[in-house]
Amino acid sequence: MTALVLDGKAVAAAVREEVAARVQELGFTPGLATVLVGDDPASHVYVRNKRRAAEQVGIRSFHHGLAPDTSQQDLEALIHQLNADPHVHGILLQLPLPTGLDAQAVTEQIDPRKDADGLHPANLGRLVLDRPGLRPCTPSGVLRILEHYGIAPAGKRAVIVGRSFLVGRPLALMMSARGVDATVTVAHSRTPDLAAVTAQADILVAAAGVPRLIGAGHVKPGAVVVDVGINRTEDGLVGDVDFDAVAEVASAITPVPGGVGPMTVAMLLANTLAAAERLGPG
Ligand code: NAD
Repeated sequence: MTALVLDGKAVAAAVREEVAARVQELGFTPGLATVLVGDDPASHVYVRNKRRAAEQVGIRSFHHGLAPDTSQQDLEALIHQLNADPHVHGILLQLPLPTGLDAQAVTEQIDPRKDADGLHPANLGRLVLDRPGLRPCTPSGVLRILEHYGIAPAGKRAVIVGRSFLVGRPLALMMSARGVDATVTVAHSRTPDLAAVTAQADILVAAAGVPRLIGAGHVKPGAVVVDVGINRTEDGLVGDVDFDAVAEVASAITPVPGGVGPMTVAMLLANTLAAAERLGPG
């Protein structure tokens, strides 16, 4: 069997078009503030891509690049300033922060209505409660790509490898939410016999950050496999899934790059738009 490749780039382009059309109808220009502390090269690339994507759909981006030795106090003061700025509807704090800074404490200073990443405890709490709120971008992107291809999680057994607050845990909540209705298992680094667990999945999501962790032996024939992993190796950028081997077993699979990555950026724009629609012109 050779799996259908789920084209995250194409789905992300469709989401961005929808966002661009709704931005036109807003009657004002939404703004996304990006905050980047330090000089991590990967983070610089991510932020540049997000800003470019925002501008392309008509969202103005306000960039704040801060020195690696920025204090917690100064960073939080910037967040307060952005909270109060009526031109800013979404705030993106690029993670990870340099050591010495408390990312959780900074995130908690973001106005939850402007929390474009959906990682503020108030928004994560709303997710637990099944109430509307801004949702984390990567898990939203995973669900959106499945929806685009008509892969309904309802009634399916989903296994998510990874329990981070950024991806695995919120995705588990979103996939088990009423209306999505998957039966979800979360596997992690302490899960014994990972392959025995993942082989039960109709939908398998890998978000562990371990290059090619998931091989053909981890996958039930005909399963849908979503690879969230982005790992820099000597062979270049690879996911958590051994793509070539798993594509022979799965019915559908996302590639790396060109899978979940572009979806994450698209959902950030969708969150910024949703925040702007709610907040209004200020
Ligand atoms: P993390 O390091 O915070 O969490 C990794 C999780 O995987 C942990 O819960 C850990 O228990 C689990 N894990 C680690 N090794 C394992 C193993 N051998 N077996 C089973 N579980 C294991 O990482 P994260 O922030 O959740 O990111 C995960 C991956 O997704 C990374 O490669 C990251 O770069 C990538 N990522 C991609 C996007 C995107 O847009 N595509 C967004 C965020 C993160």
